[in-house]
Amino acid sequence: MDPRSADVVVCGAGIAGIAAAYHLAVRRGLTDVVIVDERPPLSLTSDKSTECYRNWWPGPGDDMVALMNRSIDLLEELARESGNVFRMNRRGYLFATADPALVPRFVARANDGAALGSGPLRLHDHAGSDYRPAPADGFEGEPTGSDVITDRALIRRHFGWLADDTLALLHARRCGWFSGQQLGMYMLERARAKGVRLLEGHVAGVETAGGRVTGVRLETAGGTRTIATPRFVAAAGPLMKSVGRLLGVELPLFCERHAKVAFNDTLGAMPRSAPMTIWTDRVRLPWSDDERAELAGSEHKHLLEPFPAGVHGRPEGGGDSPVVLLIWTYDAEPMEPRFPLEFDPYYGEIALRGMSRMVPRLAQYLSRLPRTFVDGGYYTRTRENRFLAGPLPVEGAFILGALSGYGLMSSNGAADLLADHVTGRPLPRYAPAFRLERYDDPAYVKSLDAWGDDGQL
Ligand SMILES: Cc1cc2nc3c(=O)[nH]c(=O)nc-3n(C[C@H](O)[C@H](O)[C@H](O)COP(=O)(O)OP(=O)(O)OC[C@H]3O[C@@H](n4cnc5c(N)ncnc54)[C@H](O)[C@@H]3O)c2cc1C
Repeated sequence: MDPRSADVVVCGAGIAGIAAAYHLAVRRGLTDVVIVDERPPLSLTSDKSTECYRNWWPGPGDDMVALMNRSIDLLEELARESGNVFRMNRRGYLFATADPALVPRFVARANDGAALGSGPLRLHDHAGSDYRPAPADGFEGEPTGSDVITDRALIRRHFGWLADDTLALLHARRCGWFSGQQLGMYMLERARAKGVRLLEGHVAGVETAGGRVTGVRLETAGGTRTIATPRFVAAAGPLMKSVGRLLGVELPLFCERHAKVAFNDTLGAMPRSAPMTIWTDRVRLPWSDDERAELAGSEHKHLLEPFPAGVHGRPEGGGDSPVVLLIWTYDAEPMEPRFPLEFDPYYGEIALRGMSRMVPRLAQYLSRLPRTFVDGGYYTRTRENRFLAGPLPVEGAFILGALSGYGLMSSNGAADLLADHVTGRPLPRYAPAFRLERYDDPAYVKSLDAWGDDGQL
C-alpha cells in the first residue's frame, strides 16, 4: 500500500538520502520515513565515486575534520557490526612530490593536520626511521595523523614503484576506501527493517500552509498524488537547486563535472596493496618528439602545456582484480547538470599519461593504450566546498546536500547531523559550519574571498 502520510519524506535515494533515512529510523527511532526517488537507489552520482575517505581536511577551523572524524567513527561502527560487508580498508592517502619547495610544506601541512584533529605527525628523515606501512585490508589498530617521509632511501624501500626523483611523501593515515554501493545497500536494508519505505516517483512539489511543510506532491507511474507530512528532507544531489525552488529557496550551489577512468593494469605497474596515491606537482604530459611536433601544430596543442597538480589513483578490487582507477580534474568549471554526462574523449589517455609521471611503469602502456572505461558525475558544491545540513527557510524543510567529492565519506557524519536537526536534539559544536544560515553572516561571506584551500582533490 502506498503511504498517504509520513513523519518525514526524503527526496533522493543517493547516499545522502539513504544515510538520512537510516539515521532517522535506525538511530533516532522515527518509524514512518519515506524515501522518494525517480531513479534506482544510488544510481545517479553515488555509484560513480572513487569511494575513498579521509579525515585529512584543511581549515579554516577544525569543523571539517571534526565532522569527518565523526563520520569515520560511524563508518567503522557499521563495518564492525556488519562483518565489514563494505570492505573498509585503512591504506591511507599518500601525497608525493618531487618539488623541493613542497618538502617543508608537507611538514607544515602535517603539523596543521595535527592541530586540526587529524592526528599526530611522525617525521621520518633518516633511513632507520620506524615508518610503518599500512596493511592492505582491515582498518583496526592503525595509526591516525600522518607520516612525512623525507629520507629518499626510506621512500625507495617502501615505495620503489614511485618516480625516482620523489623527494617527500605525506602518508595521511585515517583514510582509505570501501564499497559505497555495499555501504548504501546495507544502510537501506537496516532502514527498511525499521519501516522505511522507498517509493519510485518524481518530487514535483512541496505543499505548505502558514509557512510550514504540509505535504509532498509526487508524480508516479500511477499518477500524481500527495503524501501528507510535516517534514521534508531535500537530498537531491546535483538536482538540488531545482528541488530548492519547489520551496522558493535559491540555494548557493553549483555543479562541476568530474570523471574517473578504470583500466586493467595487466603489467602490474601499480602494486595491488598501494594506498590512494596523489602527485602534488604540476605535470607536463610525456610525449615522443614526433607526437610533440604533431600536437604543436594542431587544435590539441594545449596538451603540451603543464597540467594542474593532483593526478591520483588507486588499485580497485580484491583477489585477482587488475583494475586501477585514476582521477584527474584538470578542467572543472561550474555547469548546469545534464544527463547523461559526456566526458573529454581523451580523458583516459590524459589521466594515464599524467599518472605515469608519478608511477613510471605506467609509461609502458603509452605506446599501446589499454582499453579504458570512463564514467563520473557531478560534484554539487558550495563555493567554500562545505556541505549543507540543517533547516531551510520554510519550517519543516531540511537539506542534506552539496556533498561535493566527499559524499560517501561524509555520509554518516552529515546524516547524523541532519537527524539531530530534524529531531530537535542537541547539536554538535560543528553544526553552524554546515547550516545554510552561515551565508546570512556578512563576515562569513567576506571570509570566502580569502578562503584558500577548499580541500578538493
Ligand atoms: C568521479 C567522482 C569521484 C568521487 N569520489 C568520491 C570519493 O572518493 N569519496 C567520496 O566520499 N565521495 C566521492 N565522490 C562524491 C560522491 O559520489 C557524492 O558526493 C555523493 O554520491 C552525492 O550523493 P547524493 O546522495 O547527494 O547525490 P546522488 O547520488 O546524485 O543522489 C541524488 C538522488 O536524488 C534523486 N532526485 C533528485 N531530484 C529528485 C526529484 N525531484 N524527485 C525524485 N528524486 C530526485 C536523484 O534521482 C538521485 O538518485 C565522487 C564523485 C564523483 C563524480
